[in-house]
Amino acid sequence: MSVLIVGSTALDSIRTPKAQNPRLLGGSASHAAVAASFFAPVKLVGIVGEDFPRNYITLYKKHKIDLEGLQIAPGKTFHWSGEYEVNMNNRRTLETELGVFETFTPRLPQSYRQSHFVLLANIAPSLQHHVLDQMSRPKLVVADTMDLWLNIALPDLLKLLRRVDGFVLNESEAQQLTQEHNLVKAARKIHKLGPKYVIVKKGEHGAILSANGKLFVAPAFPLECVIDPTGAGDSFVGGMMGYLSTAKGSIESNLRRSMIYGSVVASFCCEGFGLNATTKVTKQKIQKRVSELEKLVRF
Ligand code: AMP
Repeated sequence: MSVLIVGSTALDSIRTPKAQNPRLLGGSASHAAVAASFFAPVKLVGIVGEDFPRNYITLYKKHKIDLEGLQIAPGKTFHWSGEYEVNMNNRRTLETELGVFETFTPRLPQSYRQSHFVLLANIAPSLQHHVLDQMSRPKLVVADTMDLWLNIALPDLLKLLRRVDGFVLNESEAQQLTQEHNLVKAARKIHKLGPKYVIVKKGEHGAILSANGKLFVAPAFPLECVIDPTGAGDSFVGGMMGYLSTAKGSIESNLRRSMIYGSVVASFCCEGFGLNATTKVTKQKIQKRVSELEKLVRF
């Protein structure tokens, strides 16, 4: 089973207190696609400009990511720059240049339309809708978002929530969306907006799943050294969807374990700038960290 992923395909310029790296391969879809590729074939939907480095295309291909749905358009690739504070949790967006994203209309190749697993990674909710409009009923649709869309596209996002099975968002976004500080109550309110599965990401403190009236807490893998957490959330949900698409049994029986795999892939993401560390991961390294995480939570 392959995973269809739509989201931003970007060049990221990232500054941390220790280093800065310009024009790295980034974007929600890039991080999620590479993360999912360790488990399943991935079909990518996105757009880049003519300035997009060839070696980044090679990198997608190295991960066997299907690029038939990646448009290369005249103009500049979406560029995002951000800066981290010393604690490596607080991040400030310095600049967002939309470039070719300004006029982007996702077009799904015929071979993409029957995909059973769909990840609507962070991108404008109107574009997430547009992708769903072109699909036959998938088995699982999960959407991610960011605070920007809560601020400027809330009606579109609320409409989208009625069309998805799962919704992944971070703690502050859950609080903003529901006007509820308590995450258990916030998750309950989000279920009422549509999604059956609600996953609230809490960065280095892991993630909480709410499904069928039950909660599950997935820890983050404790790291001694965080180099750059950009894309960790996208890697988490990408790894999760990749795992789910190949796991035997029902979605519900695999959700918890999929979050552990997502946490582990996200931990690798944090150990290098952009996708530098994630792209060096192997299935064996993932499995080893999953076993370590299992030991860490056993009591
Ligand atoms: P995360 O660290 O998981 O929140 O994701 C960071 C990624 O989000 C970066 O690679 C950025 O390129 C991407 N990103 C930043 N702003 C936007 C935006 N407005 N729309 C889509 N993607 C974005």
